Amino acid sequence: MKCANCNTELERINTKNGFYYSCKLCDGKMISIPVLKREHIDPDVLRQIHSKKQDSPTDFSKKCPQCQRPMKKLLIAVDSQKMELEFCQPCFCIWFDTAEHENIPIKHDQKISSKLHPDSIKAMAMADIEFLNIQREQKEREEESRKDQLWFALRLFGL
Ligand SMILES: [Zn+2]
Ligand SMILES: [Zn+2]
Repeated sequence: MKCANCNTELERINTKNGFYYSCKLCDGKMISIPVLKREHIDPDVLRQIHSKKQDSPTDFSKKCPQCQRPMKKLLIAVDSQKMELEFCQPCFCIWFDTAEHENIPIKHDQKISSKLHPDSIKAMAMADIEFLNIQREQKEREEESRKDQLWFALRLFGL
């Protein structure tokens, strides 16, 4: 896996919260959403990622190190500072440029008990994936019906 910024081979880093990928040269990092949740980054940032990922523009200058697809550019406010993060929907991962990850504070969500059982955390991550799958299926169905309509219209005009 190559760095999204400088194309250097990424290093796999193991932590107690799971593993992520890091670039030795530019300090870029690719971290999955479940790992970010486990390390308790500011839940407000996670909420912003969740609400903005749908309508944010695609950044064609950066490809996901894992699946090579262009990532979404998300504008996030962190403690009133603007930050631009890249998000890969299929991999459910965030790409952080140099020091971006370090600039996001660690905060425990007051709404979620800190004594959550690991199984519940896993269940929450699974629910997220479930949600994404449903969204993808819906999109594919819409696409399919659009194609059918177009085909029908073409036939009407005798094309
Ligand atoms: Zn790099
Ligand atoms: Zn990806």
